[in-house]
Amino acid sequence: MPPAPPFPILISNAQIRRRTHELARQIAAAHQDAPPVLVAVMEGARTFALLLARSLPCGLPVHAISASSYGSGTQSSGVVKVVETGDIAVRGRSVLLVEDIVDTGRTVTAMRGHFLSKGAAGFSVVTLLDKPARRVVPVELRYTGFTIPDTFVVGFGMDLDGRWRELPDVVLVDAAPAPRPAVH
Ligand code: 5GP
Ligand code: MG
Repeated sequence: MPPAPPFPILISNAQIRRRTHELARQIAAAHQDAPPVLVAVMEGARTFALLLARSLPCGLPVHAISASSYGSGTQSSGVVKVVETGDIAVRGRSVLLVEDIVDTGRTVTAMRGHFLSKGAAGFSVVTLLDKPARRVVPVELRYTGFTIPDTFVVGFGMDLDGRWRELPDVVLVDAAPAPRPAVH
């Protein structure tokens, strides 16, 4: 049986908006000299990236990149392929990768290698969610919205087999009870 709503809310839309505005302020302050190249990992990070871009003062475009790390369901295949449709000009510039959630760390690591090999002058990550309990590859996350426990979430752009992206809140599709997320 696929999971069905109502799903317990882990992080509400209001919490997400508040935290995203804080992150945008930090990012704007850190990039006063030269704006970063914003690259969102599609499709999951689209919603967060657009809210973040809206919260930044400088009207930055959001570029799209794709990674396949998840097959069907909630288990990772362990293999990450980076797919860049349309060339993102990053040479000599600083890339700020926008992620929905960092899990094993494989996607971020693959993206880092991809952009540095294209000549990016810097690479940093802003992620809405971090699931450190699941890390396989160590990664540096410059900006983190919320740290969450090892549980599978959907909503606010994140899906399970293409479903539930449209939900406004981050919700749990696991059976586990909802602990409070830690705010950085
Ligand atoms: P990583 O390469 O860090 O293992 O995987 C990161 C990607 O896996 C995330 O960007 C996201 O697309 C997907 N992912 C990891 N955990 C979850 C989760 O709890 N829910 C959803 N919907 N996707 C997840
Ligand atoms: Mg993602």
